[in-house]
Amino acid sequence: MRTQILPVQLNSPSGRAAIAKAADMIQSGQLVGFPTETVYGLGADALQAAAVARIFAAKGRPADNPLIAHVCSLEMAEPLADFTPLAARLAERYWPGPLTLVLPRRPLVPDIVSAGLPTVALRFPSHAIAKALIETAATPIAAPSANLSGRPSPTLAAHVYEDMADKIPLILDGGPVQIGLESTVVDARGRYPILLRPGQISAEELAELAGDCLYPTAGSVERPAAPGMKYRHYAPSALVYLAADSSEALLIAARLPARPLFLVSVETAAELAASGIAANRLRPLFKRRDLAPYAQGIFAALRAADTEGEQYIVAEKVAERGLGRAIMNRLTKAAAG
Ligand code: AMP
Ligand code: MG
Repeated sequence: MRTQILPVQLNSPSGRAAIAKAADMIQSGQLVGFPTETVYGLGADALQAAAVARIFAAKGRPADNPLIAHVCSLEMAEPLADFTPLAARLAERYWPGPLTLVLPRRPLVPDIVSAGLPTVALRFPSHAIAKALIETAATPIAAPSANLSGRPSPTLAAHVYEDMADKIPLILDGGPVQIGLESTVVDARGRYPILLRPGQISAEELAELAGDCLYPTAGSVERPAAPGMKYRHYAPSALVYLAADSSEALLIAARLPARPLFLVSVETAAELAASGIAANRLRPLFKRRDLAPYAQGIFAALRAADTEGEQYIVAEKVAERGLGRAIMNRLTKAAAG
């Protein structure tokens, strides 16, 4: 199958035609790559089990890792799950946006979406193209990140093409995504949110809204919580090491058999350059006071390192609060193994 990439300018006739074509494909059970504000998704009609099965096949995704169903309104979400008072409050505050709610599943949702769990994960994305696609298809769209299982999530249409060429008929190109890390996932079945996967919406913000934010307890993490979190995600082929600062980065580099690529802040890059590291080995991705560009650029940097055949990467750690918790979660997975 040839994969077509269609650039989408929403308020143009060609943009509307691209959305209409993608929506037709979703309705006829095919897969479409599309942008959201977090990362690019690989979508199928969430109500057609056979279409959803194609997602698992295209990604090589383990069958026990459930998908997020994307909606474009509360009205579309309500028949899919039992909304708790907590879920209603979180949806009111954060939807549309990068927050996924895990709730008791209603019978309308096929087993395969939830990987057989009694719950379903729901999100109402804010990206205009994602919203237009779901609205036009007039059905919830099940969509994981549009990467091969185990590869870094795609933040550009070109990344989707790298992983999905000849496996899916269409990719909608909406340019680079805004956030760059996948959504915050919370179990919203109880009184307080349980943070299953950190994202841009932070534990601190959730606690402020809901009175507290809990973490999965050791025994319950893997299956009932967020099964996806147990896999070695976000991994480039290069070996990734994490360094707290420039002196630790230099110590790690000295022990490696080949020159690493440094993914660091502007400040750390200056310190490393001062100690003799060549500028072409340094990728200053952010400033210490502003982590958003690190989140936005980290997956692309990991992919580029693979494309360029890098063997070793030294990435800078950040403090685990706010967005930093989500960045460290992804870095730790990239470095695992
Ligand atoms: P992805 O769409 O690839 O970013 O992955 C979705 C994430 O949400 C994975 O970590 C899943 O395990 C998690 N998830 C999806 N559905 C559920 C669910 N019903 N319960 C808990 N976690 C879920
Ligand atoms: Mg994923």
